Amino acid sequence: MSGHTDMVLVDDNGMRIDGRTATEHRPIKIEAGVLKNADGSAYVEIGKNKVLAAVYGPRECHPRHLQNPTKAIVQCKYNMQAFSVSDRKRPGTDRRSIEISKITAEALENVVLTELYPRASIDVYIEILQANAGTRCAGLTAASVALADAGIPMRDIVPAIAAGKADGHVLLDLNKEEDNYGQADVPIAIVPSTDEIVLLQMDGNMTREEFDKAISMAVNACHEVYDIQKDALKRRYSVQKGGESNE
Ligand code: UDP
Repeated sequence: MSGHTDMVLVDDNGMRIDGRTATEHRPIKIEAGVLKNADGSAYVEIGKNKVLAAVYGPRECHPRHLQNPTKAIVQCKYNMQAFSVSDRKRPGTDRRSIEISKITAEALENVVLTELYPRASIDVYIEILQANAGTRCAGLTAASVALADAGIPMRDIVPAIAAGKADGHVLLDLNKEEDNYGQADVPIAIVPSTDEIVLLQMDGNMTREEFDKAISMAVNACHEVYDIQKDALKRRYSVQKGGESNE
């Protein structure tokens, strides 16, 4: 997020480099139940981002000292594959992946009925196969579909998307160039039934008015992502009912 480039990110007609208007998100594709060996799974594409999420549990919590006698804990591991970015990413855990794993687990704990499973762990794995900015939102979007696919009781599913600012314009769902050279990035996740915000981060600078605009843009778009998540789960359910499976 340098805020400086000679590249025109938004032209005089308000069009972005990938042909979108300010309020358009990138094309989204979601498929539930893509992995045979996990309890639940989902695959998500948002523009050039490609993300897999897998869920195991509820199962006995390891390490045992993390067990909570009153509820389950949600543990998340966000991992960016070495081949997911153009400059090979150094494999393994780093500060960024620890942060994203933590905020993802915290967002999901708001919807999972953890009190039903004392001492258990619900384990969520997010693998970023291809990254083009917005991977934490794509990961969280995939993870909540995977949790639903695993049959884990939840009060809702969580959609996520970012808004931000580039070339002085408030924009929805920044792509890599807008993220790199823009002035702000604000990832958001909500509980659609209540519009409660369960993830909110901000990188860069915006005025109060721009921030409010970004939030309302992202919250609206989260409802669109939510519809696509529900469609993916309905498709999965109708395939199972028909006796077929993509496994
Ligand atoms: N990125 C990268 N190498 C890294 C981390 C990030 O190339 O080690 C790229 C990747 O395309 C990512 C983007 O920078 O999607 C923005 O990263 P950020 O930390 O803002 O998280 P994201 O927007 O993916 O949630």
